[in-house]
Amino acid sequence: MRSREPAIGFVSLGCPKAVVDAEHILTRLRAEGYRTVGDYGEADLVIINTCGFIDSAVAESMDAIGEAVQANGRVIVTGCLGSRAQTIRARYPEVLAITGPHDDEAVMAAVHRHLPRPHDPFLDLVPAQGIRLTPAHYAYLKISEGCNHRCRFCIIPALRGPLVSRPLGEIVKEAEALVRAGVREIVIVAQDTSAYGMDLKHRVAFVGGRAVRMSFLELVRELGRLGVWVRLHYVYPYPAVEDILPLLDTEGVLPYLDVPFQHAHPRILQAMLRPAGQVHPLKCIQSWRAIRPDLVIRSTFIVGFPGETEEEFSALLDFVGDAGIDRLGAFSYSPVEGAAANALPDAVPEEIRDERLGRLMQHQAAISAARLAARVGQDYDVLIDAVTDDGLAGRSYAEAPDIDGIIYVQGKGRPGERVRARVTGSDTHDLFATAL
Ligand code: SF4
Repeated sequence: MRSREPAIGFVSLGCPKAVVDAEHILTRLRAEGYRTVGDYGEADLVIINTCGFIDSAVAESMDAIGEAVQANGRVIVTGCLGSRAQTIRARYPEVLAITGPHDDEAVMAAVHRHLPRPHDPFLDLVPAQGIRLTPAHYAYLKISEGCNHRCRFCIIPALRGPLVSRPLGEIVKEAEALVRAGVREIVIVAQDTSAYGMDLKHRVAFVGGRAVRMSFLELVRELGRLGVWVRLHYVYPYPAVEDILPLLDTEGVLPYLDVPFQHAHPRILQAMLRPAGQVHPLKCIQSWRAIRPDLVIRSTFIVGFPGETEEEFSALLDFVGDAGIDRLGAFSYSPVEGAAANALPDAVPEEIRDERLGRLMQHQAAISAARLAARVGQDYDVLIDAVTDDGLAGRSYAEAPDIDGIIYVQGKGRPGERVRARVTGSDTHDLFATAL
């Protein structure tokens, strides 16, 4: 009989990029014969995959470490906050090891050191697509790590290093394995998706025996051959985006772009040191929509960046309306330890930041409601995420998982199936439809 497999508790916090890191670590753990458990008491050791993006994420990560230390005592910390090892050690000197983000090697070395690997790894227990934390029908796929920009509010380049793109052949192979495993939607993530291949000087790779340049355009072309939905997140308004627009397709790489503009006023964009900060966001969206009228745009914005005046904030409000931003996430600016923006003068008082955030969200709610109302009467393929007591819950090409609204469909279907449905009603963020 096989001896008891060593058990590891795993907690993953943070963004989809952290989810991908977690999936890589979990896959390696399973491949080596470790099992994962959901109970600290049952675990021989606990790994906490942390987030360090903003102060509230740091606090959440610190609390998770504290809880694991108290409940289990044998804790390895990884992820973005792991880059601040001294801060963690000062509060929890007993943690066994601390590694930075995207460092499965160091995590596995720490696991081997503190919980030696079992002798009898049942490699065949690992599915070809690895271990995933998302539902079976969609998955995140990370195409690069790190970032070459220096946005003043962000410490990710310091935490994750410069841009390192994955070889195109490797990305396509991973995507194909996901499709073979039943994934019907692949969400592409990176710090800067449209910069793909710049670090590799767009050199030629071999994909399925074909010579292909490692560039954003060729990446989109290759992913468009997969026969499933592919959704692009974290796209910056570089000129290369216009080149991919004709390739977008509601059966392949979707006409949906997540473009984190963060602001729309040129002075604030320059103060933030945003990538493509010299681009005029409204003209950019108008030229994209002239090529692709069906293009859906999601964006995120920061209000109350140091020095932001009422006029500059109003320009942001106007932009959101004029550009018809379909989906929007917003944050009130908060200083992050180590960020260059902390040294900027003219901090906006907290009550004004919060008030601006409220106004932006209210403004967007009206825009969202109007844009959704305009979709009533149209037919969509809806990918079903869940079956509820009231029917089906899913999304069309215009809604990303987890962050956008839902389409509630009256009809029959199962998670992972696509159902053709006609939109019959709408509210502020969601749609209601009937299967055809
Ligand atoms: S583009 Fe800017 S915000 Fe995004 S990861 Fe790079 S530095 Fe941070």
